[in-house]
Amino acid sequence: MSKKNRLVDFRAIRESVTMEAVLKHYGLLDPMKRSGDSLSGCCPIHKGTNPTQFRVSVSKNLWNCFSECKHGGNVLDFIARMEDVSAYGAAQKAIEWFQLDPERVYAEGTAGAAPENASNEPAPKAKPDVKAAPTMAAKPEGNAPNPPLNFRLDKLHGDHPYLLERGLTPETVASFGVGFCMKGMLAGHIAIPIHNSDGQIVAYAGRHVGDPPEGTPKYKLPPGFRKSLELFNLDRAKRESPELPWVIVEGFFDAMKLHQLGHRKVVALMGSSLSTAQEELLRRHTDWRSQVLVMLDEDNAGRAARGDLAARIARFTYVGIHAFGQEGQQPEHLTAEQLQAVLGGVA
Ligand SMILES: [Zn+2]
Repeated sequence: MSKKNRLVDFRAIRESVTMEAVLKHYGLLDPMKRSGDSLSGCCPIHKGTNPTQFRVSVSKNLWNCFSECKHGGNVLDFIARMEDVSAYGAAQKAIEWFQLDPERVYAEGTAGAAPENASNEPAPKAKPDVKAAPTMAAKPEGNAPNPPLNFRLDKLHGDHPYLLERGLTPETVASFGVGFCMKGMLAGHIAIPIHNSDGQIVAYAGRHVGDPPEGTPKYKLPPGFRKSLELFNLDRAKRESPELPWVIVEGFFDAMKLHQLGHRKVVALMGSSLSTAQEELLRRHTDWRSQVLVMLDEDNAGRAARGDLAARIARFTYVGIHAFGQEGQQPEHLTAEQLQAVLGGVA
């Protein structure tokens, strides 16, 4: 599916992206001087040196250059000037950098028929600003699926030392498509693509490299994305032999590590609770002969959750719980031999 040449809703993008976020993306936010509602600094467009010529109104989400540029505009005008692209090109960049919800920023539904030679020029029938942004329900209700993303984060660095530190081999890193992200919303994070059960990417999770500062979560997920609707790695685990047991783990790295150790029929809850939607996914991909092994982290959250989780799964298939002997243990720490021993008791 092409992300190009689709009608974009410029207003929705302008409303979703702040000038502060864009400046931050360029590493320009910190050097700016903040005073009340306004930011001021050197103009990055004409590369001025006078620190008062470039101003941003935070509340109005507009910028102005009082020097060479002699004008200003909105976030998209800014990106267009910085990147030397059209408004349409700027919109595409904003969508990618800030992982904007495709449902919101594309003026039409999914289109698979975009011409191959599509350029970054404005889409032929684009009517910027005419179409109002669709009204967003505060929280999508029910089980409306996470829409597939219309873009890919390319240029992810799979050779980042953090991945090695977590014990992943280059093969595993490549196989899961993870890597360090330099730009956009996930700049400075390890980006982990999350696929739905059909194998379409529905989000990128951003893992903070190392221990995040107090109060910052380890993972960043795009706004609007509901992880409770997905089981990480289900799209691949479901293709493994029906003879093999399913292993349910909490985290992305647990799943990647087990895959690396040779047990590829593993899914991650992305937390320690099993949502009803996840339970339904599991039910759909198992039958009465399947075996499921619940292998949560050996900590308070994991211990508190695993009993209930197994009881719910037991309603439709065989289930077992693996308890680690030691506090703090988790699937990611298993060696190949240990995993083999654990699974040998199941199959
Ligand atoms: Zn300027």
